[in-house]
Amino acid sequence: MKQRLQGTEIMTIKKQHPQKKQPEKKSNWRQHNEDFVNAIQSAKQVSKALKEGRSLPPPLPPSINPDYIQCPHCSQRFNEAAAERHIKFCEEQAICHAFAAKTTRPVGKQPVTQRKPPAAAALPLQKV
Ligand SMILES: [Zn+2]
Repeated sequence: MKQRLQGTEIMTIKKQHPQKKQPEKKSNWRQHNEDFVNAIQSAKQVSKALKEGRSLPPPLPPSINPDYIQCPHCSQRFNEAAAERHIKFCEEQAICHAFAAKTTRPVGKQPVTQRKPPAAAALPLQKV
């Protein structure tokens, strides 16, 4: 009891003397800690639900940045700068794939071996 009182006394004294005040750092750490605890607790709930055979609790809201842009070709999300580059790239890839799919189909029907002789004609250079 005495120790408790001393403990509270010290607390109040510390509050009255704001020499060691680090409110920003403390609250920041606390916020991070809360996030960490939340993540652990949700993970615990999932594993608990799995053990008990219950349906999983609703997942945490996805931390997807609403500013992110979704690629219309592959549905991946990127930040603005990356999305601009990626969508261009992905569009080209999509066109390439579509083009390749169109062109390879008729070629695929033909025997591939018949297409090789023209390439082999370049070989005589090596003989010289
Ligand atoms: Zn994409």
